[in-house]
Amino acid sequence: MKTYAEMTAELEKLAAHNERLVSGLRSARAQIVELKNDLERVGDPPNSYATFLRRCEGTTIDVLHNGRRLRVATAASLDLDALAPGTELRLNEALAAVEAVPQGDSGNVVPVVEALADSRVLVAVAPDDTRVLRRAGALTEETLHPGDHVLVDLRSQLVLERIDRAEITDLVLEQVPEVSFGEIGGLGEQIEAIRDAVELPFLQQDLYRTYGLRPPQGVLLYGPPGCGKTMIAKAVAHELVLRSAEVRGVSVEDALANSAFLNVKGPELLNKYVGETERSIRLVFERAREKAAADHPVVIFFDEMEALFRTRGTGMSSDVETTIVPQLLAEIDGVEGLDNVIVIGASNREDMIDPAILRPGRLDVKIRVRRPNARAGREILGLYLGEDVPVREDRESLLDLAVREIYADGPATAYVRVEYADGGHDTLHFRDFVSGATLRNIVDRAKKLAVKDQIATGEPGVGSEHLTEAIRVEFAENEDMPSAAHAEDWARVTGLPGRSRRRVEAVVPLQDRSRPEDAAATAEEVSA
Ligand code: ADP
Repeated sequence: MKTYAEMTAELEKLAAHNERLVSGLRSARAQIVELKNDLERVGDPPNSYATFLRRCEGTTIDVLHNGRRLRVATAASLDLDALAPGTELRLNEALAAVEAVPQGDSGNVVPVVEALADSRVLVAVAPDDTRVLRRAGALTEETLHPGDHVLVDLRSQLVLERIDRAEITDLVLEQVPEVSFGEIGGLGEQIEAIRDAVELPFLQQDLYRTYGLRPPQGVLLYGPPGCGKTMIAKAVAHELVLRSAEVRGVSVEDALANSAFLNVKGPELLNKYVGETERSIRLVFERAREKAAADHPVVIFFDEMEALFRTRGTGMSSDVETTIVPQLLAEIDGVEGLDNVIVIGASNREDMIDPAILRPGRLDVKIRVRRPNARAGREILGLYLGEDVPVREDRESLLDLAVREIYADGPATAYVRVEYADGGHDTLHFRDFVSGATLRNIVDRAKKLAVKDQIATGEPGVGSEHLTEAIRVEFAENEDMPSAAHAEDWARVTGLPGRSRRRVEAVVPLQDRSRPEDAAATAEEVSA
């Protein structure tokens, strides 16, 4: 016999169960209603869209529908006079046009290759895909030039709108950067060479002419990345402005405002549609000539120049070989008469540069920018760990320590072993990959560690422990270092020509950079 209490409990349990069933049923019902609505919606007759082409007899029109031309009827509510080629229309299930829908303003922006007769336009939709499209109504009167950018709708095959884009020169035109030669470490010889080559003829144009000397048109700076080529180019431009202000008796601000530094990044310029690169190059030089004609110094700086001046006949890119190189050569030849224009090229693959570019009258001064050796490295470290930076120890001894650790050649800093096809091998150390940029990173890292330290302990100043740690991390993380997988790359990165001539058989990593414990051990061994 169940007690009263037991029965009450059972009842409560049953009631709760009931409740759950009811709510389950309710939600099932809601789902069914939703499904039913969905079904009804799916059952709606479809509407499709088409693009108006032209009016035909009576109230029929020609439209483009899914890439096919159709002659369709129109609803009485549709104002036929308001339709222009390109207008988008909604069609009902019987494919009659019932409504004009607002013009889509999205599509692809592509360059015009040529405006053809009959309202047709040849455009480049991809580097090797040119197509003939028709102009939408709004564009029939517009003059389109090769290189203009237009909005196109590839589905309806229409050119919808001309897009004004900032001219390339606005993208590459820079104020002359405020970099001075004093900020560049360890490149005294290179700086002297470029100043001799550029400044003297530039500032003594009359004397040069008197002696029948032809000022060089350009300079090629070559060597591994991150070692100061761009800095030198910028400092040259800055110095030219200062000197020319002096010579002309104008204020530095005036001279700065009127001179130009055109910074052209090779791969960026190359990464364009058919004909675009050529046009951009033309515009760059046009702008340079304009500025120079008004007697202002102009530096055109080509970064990663090998991308544009690739040796012809290598089959790398037909564009570069057949049209870009000759055009650049012609442009450089064209500024020859202009004493105020200097072309500076930078490259870490000088072996890939078309020799025609280095002939007399072009970039005939070649200056090699090497990776900093220990002496140069100390100079660069000293620039960033300046006299004004708080230090815990003697600054000179900190610099000595950093140089010792970075330039050590023991197994602790060994990075890869390169094996050559001829049986020989080389062991490359951290120092073989060091660049000005790496050294700067090391000092920046050490400074940040010092800041953290000061916050935690109250003790100010960069100490040897911060530098050691910064070097350890930089060594472990250095992204400049070539991966072992790209045997061909490393020779370029080390910038050692003797080595790069030998065929590389294998590159064997000597450090596991993914495991920080190893790198820590490395740093300890070095400092020991
Ligand atoms: P590159 O043009 O050779 O690839 P950059 O001149 O752009 O190299 O150098 C990158 C950065 O590394 C510079 O902005 C600078 O901070 C630092 N750096 C490189 N070389 C030096 C150097 N010789 N002296 C001082 N800083 C340098």
